Amino acid sequence: MKTMDRRDFFKTSALTGAALISGTLSSSVGQSAYAASKTKSRSRAGEVPVAAEADVVVIGGGPAGFGAAVRAARAGAKTILIDRYDVPGGVHTVGLQGAYNAGVGGIHTELMQRLTKEGHVYTATEKTLPDLAGNPLSHYEWYLKPGSTFSRSTFNPDSGGTVMLTMLREAGVKALYNTTFVDLKMKKPPKGEMAIESVIVKNVAGTQAVKGKVFIDASGMAEVVARAGAPFVPGGGGQPGTVAGWDGKNRPVPGGLLWIMAGIDFDKVVHYQKNQNDPSLAKLISAALAANDIPADLFRPRLGGTNVYANLYIGHPTLDLSPIQGPGTFILWENVPYEWSLHLDENPDDMLRAQIAMREFVNAEARFLKHYVPGFENGFVTSIGHYLGVRDGRHPKGEYVFTLDDALTSRRFPDAVTKPMKKSFHWDAGKVHEFEVPYRCFLPQKVENLLLTGASLSFTYDTLFMVMRNFPWCVQTGEIAGFAAAKSVAQGVPPKQYKWTTPLL
Ligand SMILES: Cc1cc2nc3c(=O)[nH]c(=O)nc-3n(C[C@H](O)[C@H](O)[C@H](O)COP(=O)(O)OP(=O)(O)OC[C@H]3O[C@@H](n4cnc5c(N)ncnc54)[C@H](O)[C@@H]3O)c2cc1C
Repeated sequence: MKTMDRRDFFKTSALTGAALISGTLSSSVGQSAYAASKTKSRSRAGEVPVAAEADVVVIGGGPAGFGAAVRAARAGAKTILIDRYDVPGGVHTVGLQGAYNAGVGGIHTELMQRLTKEGHVYTATEKTLPDLAGNPLSHYEWYLKPGSTFSRSTFNPDSGGTVMLTMLREAGVKALYNTTFVDLKMKKPPKGEMAIESVIVKNVAGTQAVKGKVFIDASGMAEVVARAGAPFVPGGGGQPGTVAGWDGKNRPVPGGLLWIMAGIDFDKVVHYQKNQNDPSLAKLISAALAANDIPADLFRPRLGGTNVYANLYIGHPTLDLSPIQGPGTFILWENVPYEWSLHLDENPDDMLRAQIAMREFVNAEARFLKHYVPGFENGFVTSIGHYLGVRDGRHPKGEYVFTLDDALTSRRFPDAVTKPMKKSFHWDAGKVHEFEVPYRCFLPQKVENLLLTGASLSFTYDTLFMVMRNFPWCVQTGEIAGFAAAKSVAQGVPPKQYKWTTPLL
């Protein structure tokens, strides 16, 4: 890492002070710029008005962007958050995921406590759903011994989004919702690497620039990294060929669309499963397939495997549900078929195909449930996610790329961002591993004033299912990025020059 002194960093920032940015925007922005207009909020071709300016600009308001913006603002940095939806929370609110976890510290704990206090958390246990443990239809509890104790908590995704929105407002974050990041403008500081001068966004006011000193890529898919020309590995970049049925193609771990159904009599479902000896509804699925009532690949066999994914998400042989919000209400998974090999991070045609197909799958599954499965007769769809979540998007290459080996060998780092974390890995017989993640995973190569966070952190694809994509960890990495951003601004240095010495959480 090259060094740059405080004066140089501010000097480059000062160079961006012009009210209008012209010329070097990418063609997509140039072409979409509005024709000349008398109103101030319209841009003229080739010119993008600067709508706002801040110390820290966070792109993406999912779990990571939320944590980042709250922490940066609380640390005194003027902070702007940009998200394309009207509420923060990403996969967990707009995408309906709503997974509740015990607080892991910092802002995550605060959020969980607040959700609980305000009454947005629903918990199902063996007392309310005695036959969920060990049931093949359960997304999370299928592997338990039938009758085991369990506790499954979720927060209401809509209310959760509102709580996050309020926490951001209370922290003093200026949030630009319904605002899409489309491009950026780079600058070359006198010393060091390239830097981002401003991000280009679109909202009701048209195409605008937002300037900042430090930027945080919390897009969940490393969109800022890609637009900035920093290196990354695309999703699906290297799954091992150990999966049964493997044909050698690089396939991303599939994304998924979540939806919620209410009015379900789960006792009646269980009664059918037991009485008809049809635990995974195979008989009903066969009948529906024979009658041409469901698409052939709605329920598809799992591809068994011994790698880090085991058989997760690469098959959907039966219902995949979990209690949420209240009695009789369940969240259901519609995962993109693994066999389709869709690249949702970089290919808009693939994304469109997945979005249309998954919504049609939801309708087909809901029809099937109501007409074929006892207990679902009075069921009705209450919501379908507006965010098809991408599990395996771009993996930025940071100053350090965290690997499976780092976790398995409990590698220690002088710039560890947290105290050692302990996680049990399902694909390793539940064995607990203790590991640390270095600050360098937050620093992309080639851009000096950008921080990575959440699902856009620098790690290899095979660490996805260990910890890297969990909701609590994404809020934590957000908080870490927000802290580092505020410190960098306060010290007048880019994040790469900020010396990380002590774990934050
Ligand atoms: C289907 C599915 C199920 C999951 N289940 C679980 C689970 O059970 N438990 C768990 O812990 N984790 C789960 N995860 C993983 C977890 O949800 C993600 O890893 C986590 O949400 C990543 O957080 P993030 O903030 O990095 O990204 P995201 O949650 O993806 O948020 C990114 C945000 O950036 C915004 N954004 C992106 N691009 C732009 C743009 N161009 N302009 C403006 N805004 C933009 C989006 O609107 C979004 O709000 C699941 C993920 C998926 C996809």
